[in-house]
Amino acid sequence: MLNKYYQAVQITNLQKAICHLVKGTAKVITPDWTTHSFEDWIKISQFHNGNGSEGRFIRSPSVTLLIPDAIYLPFYESLPQSEVIFSRQNLFLRDKFTCQYCGKILKNPKERTIDHIIPKSRGGKTVWSNVVLCCKKCNLKKGDKTPEEAGLKLLKLPKAPRWQALILEEFPKHKRDKWKVFLNFAGIFSEP
Ligand SMILES: [Zn+2]
Repeated sequence: MLNKYYQAVQITNLQKAICHLVKGTAKVITPDWTTHSFEDWIKISQFHNGNGSEGRFIRSPSVTLLIPDAIYLPFYESLPQSEVIFSRQNLFLRDKFTCQYCGKILKNPKERTIDHIIPKSRGGKTVWSNVVLCCKKCNLKKGDKTPEEAGLKLLKLPKAPRWQALILEEFPKHKRDKWKVFLNFAGIFSEP
């Protein structure tokens, strides 16, 4: 979803997107920045459908609709969220499911623990900059010590993630490619 300033602000589902289109609160936007009303989009969909062209469609008895990749909300002024809520899941995503000491990828949720770099017992807080994902083995080794004391070294210094970076983690690459032009414009996506 793009706001009135063409900034990517949210990821929505198809049902909500269609709802916005039907109500007229949103238009379909294509990567060339053209916007289309719902009525126009129906015509475009019919054209593509009759053309046998590729693209995914949803069909009802009366309407065939090409599934839009992005919608533009001309009356929506909210700006992109910038802070990520602290949660276990978000922490795992930030750390890419990798133990931040030994580098092991922790596929099994049972292997995942949260380590306080400055231990809680020494006043360490549960904040983005003081917690990392850690495997059980490293956590055991670390105990109530600082990394230096335990002879462990962090792969990188942790910081609060940007919400966009996190959201992109969860989406398949083909979707990211489709959104690239919009995400680039919003300063979200950067080529590796
Ligand atoms: Zn480890």
